[in-house]
Amino acid sequence: MRRFKLVTLGCKLNQCEAEELGLSLSAKAAYRPCRGGEPADLVVVNTCTVTERAAVQSRQAIRRAIREHPGAFIVVTGCLAETDPETLRAIPGVGRVVGRTAKAGLAESLCAAKAEPPQDEGAAAAGRRAGFSSTPAAGDPLAGRTRAFVKIQDGCDAFCSYCIVPYARGPSRSVSPHRVLERIGLLAARGFREVVLTGVHIGRYGLDLTPPRTLAALLEDILGGDFPLRVRLSSIEPLELTERLLEVAVRSGGRVCPHFHIPLQSGDAAILARMRRPYGPADFRGAVAAVRARFPDAAIGADVLVGFPGESDEAFENTFRLIADLPLSYLHVFPFSPRPGTAAFGFDDRIDPAKIRARCGRLRRLGETKRLLFHRGFVGRAIEVLTETRRDPQSGLLRGVSANYLRVRFAGEDAWMNRLARVRITAADSRFLSAALDSPAGSGTRGRSSSA
Ligand code: SF4
Repeated sequence: MRRFKLVTLGCKLNQCEAEELGLSLSAKAAYRPCRGGEPADLVVVNTCTVTERAAVQSRQAIRRAIREHPGAFIVVTGCLAETDPETLRAIPGVGRVVGRTAKAGLAESLCAAKAEPPQDEGAAAAGRRAGFSSTPAAGDPLAGRTRAFVKIQDGCDAFCSYCIVPYARGPSRSVSPHRVLERIGLLAARGFREVVLTGVHIGRYGLDLTPPRTLAALLEDILGGDFPLRVRLSSIEPLELTERLLEVAVRSGGRVCPHFHIPLQSGDAAILARMRRPYGPADFRGAVAAVRARFPDAAIGADVLVGFPGESDEAFENTFRLIADLPLSYLHVFPFSPRPGTAAFGFDDRIDPAKIRARCGRLRRLGETKRLLFHRGFVGRAIEVLTETRRDPQSGLLRGVSANYLRVRFAGEDAWMNRLARVRITAADSRFLSAALDSPAGSGTRGRSSSA
């Protein structure tokens, strides 16, 4: 059986799409994933273009794949394949560049290639096309995992002035509730204990459907399905964290994870307006307060974009003070990266890169402090974790993740993997929490969270 390798850069949505592609390849084309250092017959590189650095890393990943898998058919897809296909096509060794519209049918088109080779496929791959069959999956990209991503939405209509994503992924499109439930049902049947609802802009979920739907309604549908797993949201914009959504999460009794990742980007009103973000600092403050009031133990994270053109010292201090003042659990800090094709690329009041680095450093240290404080608040308390790994060969410890995204290490048995265990936290640093078993791992048939 021929072997494939997937290389994915960028966001959870890209990871989710790569997983789906891997499953389709396994099921439809008689491919199996490479094991260890095996050479591949097919490499699919799922690229990212969200920053200039991501684009550079994507091109490096393509060259590395060509080098490490001589003779393999190299397919390049993802956001960079949509925004800059010519550059990627010009890389010697790239067999095919697949943009947004063709990406969904990629596995099928690779299967169909046995009947009619595409012009740019190359001789080495043409030889390997013989032997496709409909043998069921022999390899499984989801094997050994306890958490799966579920794509509920793609694309974005917002056109924030710094963001290339709407150009790369097109307008917002939602997956029908029926298909989302079907996918979650399959994952639950396969033993997954957590799903992460993923998209570019999931707060816009359902607005393009007929009749229109909302994310809150989708969550209600999922909860109504009574699947034996917990549901986590990926990131959600401040104004889309609605009362109804929060109430659904409260009523779920822990089946919707108390973990909310809310992009802030800037705490300065003028910079937010220039970014074309539709909220102000007070809206963000309100969103955090609304979550904290309902979920005292929730993980609340934020993205911050540092060094946007025109970000004065005062504007940066507004961001720093807002974050320092709020009960956030962690930060993801990104330096501004001008992307050709976006409105902000033309803004001429760019910030000195050294200043951007210094500001990022300050914010990252603030984020570390916040994470440590959040973690320390759980020392001495009992919490429930989903055991995600077998014992680490070096430390002998298992790793688990709580509904509110605490990463916990504790002693236990390999057989506990994919089960819920109740542990008592004994120590914490800014990365991990240490724990001792409080009660044995159960069957893990229900992903509810609790702490005491
Ligand atoms: S909401 Fe703004 S930042 Fe997010 S994907 Fe859409 S355009 Fe980009």
